[in-house]
Amino acid sequence: SGTAAIITPVNRIGYLGKDIHIPTGEDGMGPVSRPIWTELVAEKILYSHLHDPVHGLGDGGRIRGEAYLQLKPERVAMQDASAQMALLQFMSAGLDRCAVPTSIHCDHLIQASDGAEADLKRSIISNQEVFDFLESAARKFGIEFWRPGSGIIHQIVLENYAAPGMLMLGTDSHTPNAGGLGMLAIGVGGADAVDAMTGTPWELKAPQIVGVHLTGSLSGWTTTKDLILHLAGKLTVRGGTGRIIEYFGPGVHSQSCTGLATIANMGAEVGATTSTFPYTSNMRGYLHATGRGPVAKAADEAAGKGFLSADDGAEYDEVIEINLSDLEPTINGPFTPDLATPLSKFGAFVKEQGWKDELSAGLIGSCTNSSYEDMTRVADLARQAKAAGLTTKVPFLCTPGSEQIRATMERDNVTSTLQDVGAVVLANACGPCIGQWKREDKKGEENAILTSFNRNFKSRNDGNRYTMNFLASPTVVTAMAFSGSLSFNPMTDSLTLDSGNRFKFSPPSGQDLPSTGFTPGDTSFYPLPTPEPQPDAEVVIQKDSQRLELLEPFTSPFNDGNLELPPLKVLMRVRGKCTTDHISAAGPWLKYKGHLTNISENLLITAVNDEGGDVNVAFDHDAPSGITETGTIPGVAKRLKGRNQPWALVVDENYGEGSAREHAALQPRFYGCNLIVARSFARIHETNLKKQGVLPLWFADKTDYSRIGSGDMIETVGLANLLQGHPDAIIKLRIKWLHAGSALNHIRSQMK
Ligand code: SF4
Repeated sequence: SGTAAIITPVNRIGYLGKDIHIPTGEDGMGPVSRPIWTELVAEKILYSHLHDPVHGLGDGGRIRGEAYLQLKPERVAMQDASAQMALLQFMSAGLDRCAVPTSIHCDHLIQASDGAEADLKRSIISNQEVFDFLESAARKFGIEFWRPGSGIIHQIVLENYAAPGMLMLGTDSHTPNAGGLGMLAIGVGGADAVDAMTGTPWELKAPQIVGVHLTGSLSGWTTTKDLILHLAGKLTVRGGTGRIIEYFGPGVHSQSCTGLATIANMGAEVGATTSTFPYTSNMRGYLHATGRGPVAKAADEAAGKGFLSADDGAEYDEVIEINLSDLEPTINGPFTPDLATPLSKFGAFVKEQGWKDELSAGLIGSCTNSSYEDMTRVADLARQAKAAGLTTKVPFLCTPGSEQIRATMERDNVTSTLQDVGAVVLANACGPCIGQWKREDKKGEENAILTSFNRNFKSRNDGNRYTMNFLASPTVVTAMAFSGSLSFNPMTDSLTLDSGNRFKFSPPSGQDLPSTGFTPGDTSFYPLPTPEPQPDAEVVIQKDSQRLELLEPFTSPFNDGNLELPPLKVLMRVRGKCTTDHISAAGPWLKYKGHLTNISENLLITAVNDEGGDVNVAFDHDAPSGITETGTIPGVAKRLKGRNQPWALVVDENYGEGSAREHAALQPRFYGCNLIVARSFARIHETNLKKQGVLPLWFADKTDYSRIGSGDMIETVGLANLLQGHPDAIIKLRIKWLHAGSALNHIRSQMK
């Protein structure tokens, strides 16, 4: 339960350097001596979840950025797209139940088109076999199953499972959203989730910790969304890599819990491992409002003993000062979340770029911004506009984050207020945020949309690479939907009414929490709490399914006692930004998440080949015709696999940034990739590659990147020495994965 997640003195170690007596319990732990140190919130949570609290921190040397921690997460949450592969992997491990409470959330596969009811019905029919598979696996292994329509994973986790001091993993990169309740929630690939689900220690290189000191207060149009949009501009998409962002200072305590969740959610956009906050009275209020009084009580007790705030004198690796009173609304994009422009300068920016001053759609909601506070602030603007006789000038879509939010919005007339001005309320699901938007207009045309979502890579929302997608707060999105123009600044500009009069919005106001409490809505969406596994239940995979396929173990490249990789052909040199969306596109491909053969057809189809600059072009230098042939990237990869020719990729900076999508590692491996050499890697993706048995290597000299091209052969020299002699236990384990062909092969061999 959530209560069990609260840090207690029993599982705390190293606190203020005292000798902590950990009572001899089932783990047989005795007194532990630790060096004197002080800790930040993030460290208190990490170190109280060590798999082996006695030896887990080594010899007391430098930990941050250097030590590998073996951790024991308390919960796993999986969304329907990533859960398929995670469950297929979990099934291969041969266990009959999950080692920790686990939940599945059906949210990514619901397509937005006509409105909630029709979309939900149609999407359930078109994804029935996947939902049947997920539900049957949940029944067999005792997993909580949240049906399609119940809501978006991160909103449901915040409402039901998150608790101060807890450590959880989620198979989605915006899992850090739960950090809004003062915990560590970390986005991982399915293979990492399988570690927690099988009770295998989960490894994390101890992150550095960036402190963001918040002073002043937000007011008027400025929201926590603007704070994180501003910070993304400062830190860039790489600034949080290998780091936890921990906010502190008086400005933390004036934000609502859901506002903090928005900030934590978008820490993923700067590549942070996760984000967290000290426990606040607004967190207590949110826990009570969501029916978790006992968790609030336990958190109050833990906070009283100093376990949920940073120790005086504990040091951050870097401190960023932000005065909330100086912030203004910010718009980020297009195509990257770190291109931040203050609202007051946005009109000039649009002009400078030569873009049409036209907005084509406004989208609000998603896991990032669908709290009661967000929705009531937006409804306040809608009410003002309606009173002036205005409706939105462009399509205006709203995705509630959960059934609880949807039902409470409906009860409190928020929904009808939005609909009165033209809003279409979509199903409680990801919809357009993950590209599940059946958009009929602007196909192949340059156009601009504004969303309150968190991610805006090219083609993300509607599959149209010419759609410029900008991120803003829900209130800015809403106000601009009434103007239809990108240069409209609702803080200073007014709109002309039919009467010829001018109308100007007043700054929006809303309510953190509903004064009469939340209403749960349709309770049939809710799963049984902690269901018992049913070992006799059958996991449903249809014969000849095109959506689901049992996994075949990868073969080890080190067979026959060979300790070097076999000679590898370079498939291509990938140029520039290559996110997990580039490596394994979402949108229509989401339906193949559980079918490795089918989804691999999308390998790197939006990546740019540095030799020629074309998208989805690769060269086959060994074609049977004897001349170099040009093909698609998956096409050439498939040819190499057909010839049993292992291959390698050469890639640029921060390769694999974006999401926890493990398919981005599975797919190259499936086609025979054994090595990726990068200028640098994104953290989650680097781990995912190792788990699937692909060796990630960095260029010692980044300028060497352009010295290797397609068709070149790579041989490893000295890998054998590295693999045999490494003293570090974690690296040794990773070497075992590599030798076994994948982490899963290794886990299975340990179960025998
Ligand atoms: Fe869904 Fe978008 Fe949130 Fe991801 S970021 S969980 S796709 S709503």
